[in-house]
Amino acid sequence: ESFKELKLVPELLESCEQMNFTKPTPIQAEAIPHALEGHDIIGLAQTGSGKTAAFAIPILQALWYAQTPYFACVLAPTRELAYQIRETFDALGSNMGLRCVTIVGGMDMMDQARDLMRKPHVIVATPGRLMDHLEHTKGFSLRALKYLVMDEADRLLDMDFGPALDKILKIIPKERITYLFSATMTSKIEKLQRASLHNPVRVAV
Ligand code: AMP
Repeated sequence: ESFKELKLVPELLESCEQMNFTKPTPIQAEAIPHALEGHDIIGLAQTGSGKTAAFAIPILQALWYAQTPYFACVLAPTRELAYQIRETFDALGSNMGLRCVTIVGGMDMMDQARDLMRKPHVIVATPGRLMDHLEHTKGFSLRALKYLVMDEADRLLDMDFGPALDKILKIIPKERITYLFSATMTSKIEKLQRASLHNPVRVAV
């Protein structure tokens, strides 16, 4: 099996080649076809499985046809993970003019506000700081959001991002596609799933 069989746009296939991704990892092979059909996904997968590209590839494929700002938002529990996710998006989106920003705590609010005003396609954020911008940065909203990803959702909840997550879920469009990735399936994750996903396909590796 190869990325070609997934019918990705040439701009994405080229990036996969440039990154030396020759064939999809198991989580990618399972998740990407369902994601390309427009399903919500709940993925049980660890770091190292290739889960980042499993959600980035379908988002970038959809973005290629839409080309709209504030298209996707990825929520991550830590700055380090947010930067790693951003790197993967930048690399996979390098042939399609992708604008991606990282919005995490501990960095200057004004710098971030300026980055947000440049109309990025993809925002990778920690939930607390994203909520700060939604409340305080004039002209920034997620009204046009099409994709939400909650990565390492078990850690998001362990780190007490639950209240920020709930607030974000309340203000973003109901009509959207949602991907939830977690290393473990707990009752809290199931509750978050019920509150945020619609008929998800479950993939696990
Ligand atoms: P992740 O689990 O998303 O943190 O990815 C773990 C590592 O696997 C990263 O360094 C990726 O660049 C790499 N990777 C992801 N997908 C593939 C693939 N299809 N082929 C080779 N390497 C990959």
